Amino acid sequence: MNVMIPQWKADSGKPGPAVLITAGVHGDEFEPMLSLYRLSARLPQILTCGSVTALPAVNVGAVRSGTRCGPDGLDLARICPGDAFGTPAQRDAHAVSQLIRSSDFLIDLHTGGRILDIHPMCGYMIHPNASILAKQREMARAFGLPLIWGTDPAPNGRTLSVARDAGIPSMYVEYGGGSVVRPHIEEAYVDGCLRVLSLLDMIPESIVRQAEPVRWWVEDDRPDQGHLQSKMPSPADGVFIAAVSLGHPIYKGDLWGHVFDPLRGDRQEVRAEEDGLVLFLRAEAVVKTGDSLGGICVIDERVKQLKG
Ligand SMILES: [Zn+2]
Repeated sequence: MNVMIPQWKADSGKPGPAVLITAGVHGDEFEPMLSLYRLSARLPQILTCGSVTALPAVNVGAVRSGTRCGPDGLDLARICPGDAFGTPAQRDAHAVSQLIRSSDFLIDLHTGGRILDIHPMCGYMIHPNASILAKQREMARAFGLPLIWGTDPAPNGRTLSVARDAGIPSMYVEYGGGSVVRPHIEEAYVDGCLRVLSLLDMIPESIVRQAEPVRWWVEDDRPDQGHLQSKMPSPADGVFIAAVSLGHPIYKGDLWGHVFDPLRGDRQEVRAEEDGLVLFLRAEAVVKTGDSLGGICVIDERVKQLKG
C-alpha cells in the first residue's frame, strides 16, 4: 500500500549528512508547509554536501482538509511509528517514521494550528544520550528563535520519539498559529532551517542571515510539560478574552483572561497556575469547557536554565 506524501530532495552529490525536514504533521499549520516549498527553490544552488529531504505535507488527509487531523480523526503526532496497513494517517506516520530512521538529523516544523498562537520557540527532548542532547542543543540554538525549551524525553507517538529511539538528533519548532498566514513566520522558518544546515556545514555560512539572540533557554524534565493541548482548561463554554500577551512574564495568580457567556452576560476569571513566560494562548475565541486557554513555560527554580 503506497502512501503518496509529497516530498522533494536536494542532493549535493557529495558525502555528508542526510537531513529530513517535515511540515504538515498537522494540516492547519500553514507557514511550515510554505517555507519548505521556498527552501526547495533555494537549496539546490547552495547545498555543498549531503542531502536534504523535505516533506511539506506529512498528514496528507489533514492538509487536504486544512484541519489538525484528517478524516480518520488521528493526530499524527501521537501515532508514530504508525502502521503500513492502517488508516491514512497511520500509513503516513509509518512512511515518515521510515524516512526519519534513514536520516541523520530531523527538524519538524509546527505552529499552534488554528486554535493556538505560540511564542516562537525551538524544542527538543532531553535525550538521555549526552552527545545527542548536545547536538540537539546546538541545532535549537542555531535555528535562532528567542525561546529554547527542552522537555521530558518520555512521550511516545511523536516524530521526535521515533528519532529519539533511533538515536537521531532532532528538534521541533513552534511559532504562531491561527487561521491566517503570516509571511514573517514563513521567513523565520526558511532562515532557521538554513542556519541549522550551516551549523552542519552543508551550506556556506556567508549566505545565512544572523539570528536574534536567545532570550530564554530552559530544560524542564517534569513529565508531560511539552504536551501543549492539555494546559489551562477553560472552566466554562463561552468566549475567551485574553488578558496577557505572548512572551510576557507571568506570575501564579495573575489574571490570564476571562471566559464570557454571551447569553447570560457573565464572565469567569482564569488565573495563571505557575510563574514563567506566556508560551501560548488560545487564538480562537469560542471555547468549550476543558479547551486549552494557553500555557506557561515555567521559569523558576524547578527548571534548569542554560545560557544562550
Ligand atoms: Zn503541530
